[in-house]
Amino acid sequence: MATCNDNDDKVETFTTAKPKLYSKCVKCGNKASIIARIKDAMCIGCFDAYYVHKFRAALGKSRLFLNEERVLLAYSGGINSVSLLSMVKRGLDESSHKKLQFLVDVIFIDEGCLFGDTWNSENILMIENLTTLGFRFYILKLESYLHPSLKLCIQTFDTLTIGWPVYTIHLECEKSRLLKIFESCHSSNKQQLLELIRYKLLTKFAYEFGYNKILMGDNATRLSTQLLHGICRGKGSLANYDITFADTRFPGLYFCRPMREFLAKEIVFSVNISKLKYFNFPNFDSVNRSANKSSIFHVTEDFLAELHSLQPFTTSTVFRTGNKLSPLNTGQSNICALCMLTHEYSITNTTLCYSCQRICDNVKGEFVTLLPILFM
Ligand SMILES: [Zn+2]
Ligand SMILES: [Zn+2]
Repeated sequence: MATCNDNDDKVETFTTAKPKLYSKCVKCGNKASIIARIKDAMCIGCFDAYYVHKFRAALGKSRLFLNEERVLLAYSGGINSVSLLSMVKRGLDESSHKKLQFLVDVIFIDEGCLFGDTWNSENILMIENLTTLGFRFYILKLESYLHPSLKLCIQTFDTLTIGWPVYTIHLECEKSRLLKIFESCHSSNKQQLLELIRYKLLTKFAYEFGYNKILMGDNATRLSTQLLHGICRGKGSLANYDITFADTRFPGLYFCRPMREFLAKEIVFSVNISKLKYFNFPNFDSVNRSANKSSIFHVTEDFLAELHSLQPFTTSTVFRTGNKLSPLNTGQSNICALCMLTHEYSITNTTLCYSCQRICDNVKGEFVTLLPILFM
């Protein structure tokens, strides 16, 4: 999920690289086998220690988490959230003073309704993995967002055939309403709409079940793309909210991004070293990319990836510059009904910010009439 959803990150092939220029580990002087960042060749042991330290430092610096507090982790099965879950698990398994002091429950949002309802062997394997790790986990269908009670929508699992969901209620009506909304939305805007609805569903769940912090798996590579993409779509300085450690746009709730300073490449290395299994469930970005449909997001992603290959500090430069953005305080407090950000446009007859208006532009009438249900 941007989100808690990270399936579309450009995954670089893992190799136990053969560094020519930097053949020694910068930490211990032994033979290096990984170059995650330029001039930082490391052996596997030192890289793992660096990775864990960086993760723990990000959590520690925030000073947000209380002892024994129950925190929700948005799990998409993608490489970022798999790494996040593994770091949390290691933190919880540590002895005494190093142990993470908060408790973690996991939520997976099943977006299958948008991609042909395919609960398959990958989903089953994912459930088995979660069960093995011992976390309490919830599974919700995306269309549950349109149901008045999320408590009734949580999927349980048959103990005899572990991995196959048992439906306590049917959500056919909600599903067809949601599909109508997405059918009416332009293909290049569908992923943004999906991410907004996913955020809203997580928020609704957190409010209903008493969580006030949600851990997200977004990494620096994806967030830098998201930042530039947001600016291209007219978000202006509000784009900064998408990359902060603690996103506070929803009252009383923190969306926390402890992986936000990791490059996608570092996460790939770590996941491969630990031999973790991750899953690639479809989303609109991957669907559009495989259908060769271009979108601003893809163009931005390719642009940054190309620049990064020429100038390896590109991603961190974009990320750090974005971190310095702060919204103008114009004294106005218009809250966008879709993304929940306070915006500075005083356009009459709209409750949407400029960027969200673009998502809703050029859509069929049906979408407009269905849109208010998204504002719950
Ligand atoms: Zn070393
Ligand atoms: Zn908005």
